[in-house]
Amino acid sequence: MPTIARNLKKIQTQIHNAQQRYQREENSVQLLAVSKTKPASAMVSAYQAGQRHFGENYLQEALNKQRELGAFNMTWHFIGAIQSNKTKLLATHFDWVHCVDSLKIAERLSSQRPDFLEPLNICVQVNISDEESKAGISLNELPALVSQISQLPNLTLRGVMAIPAPQIDFEAQREPYRKLVAAVKALKNENLTTFSFGMSDDLEAAIAEGSTMVRIGTALFGARSYV
Ligand SMILES: *Cc1c(COP(=O)(O)O)cnc(C)c1O
Repeated sequence: MPTIARNLKKIQTQIHNAQQRYQREENSVQLLAVSKTKPASAMVSAYQAGQRHFGENYLQEALNKQRELGAFNMTWHFIGAIQSNKTKLLATHFDWVHCVDSLKIAERLSSQRPDFLEPLNICVQVNISDEESKAGISLNELPALVSQISQLPNLTLRGVMAIPAPQIDFEAQREPYRKLVAAVKALKNENLTTFSFGMSDDLEAAIAEGSTMVRIGTALFGARSYV
């Protein structure tokens, strides 16, 4: 079996096993294949092995790949930093945008989403542990932003995404996710069903704490030569 197909199978098995170990429902965790810096051909390999959801960080790179891969029925997620002058391209060319962390960005995405497309799926990025990073809102800003974004006509607010500071220790990996999930559950908003967290090095901790979408790059496509 070619490497990417083999890696995909291995990750699916890991997800399956973690779901069982932590009493998660079968198929409650979706795999988002993070293909940044990797060629379109690598995405085709994953696609042929059954993968449909792909995450990209760099807009221009993603648009080039979309042109190349137009014949494939892929679902495109933008998981990179959002510049406000790029929202129109995001609103036009993606199915999901994960890193929304301001009302201004959300309003632009909503007003720029073309009418002929379904509402754009959105996750609010929450900064749960990485004080260095400016990306993401704090937990106490979450209720207000959720209710504001919920009013916007051309967006479907799905849930939250997070990129915690890397940790080696399993319990340390779990802790920020546990806090985030508790804060979201406290909102009692039944539309917030997506928990976009967990990467190659903390997939298990993320599933233990309730991730519904793990974003996996390295373990699927191999190491990147640049980030
Ligand atoms: C690159 C990236 C990933 C994938 O990380 P890996 O460690 O390669 O699995 C996931 N989420 C975001 C936001 C990323 O930028």
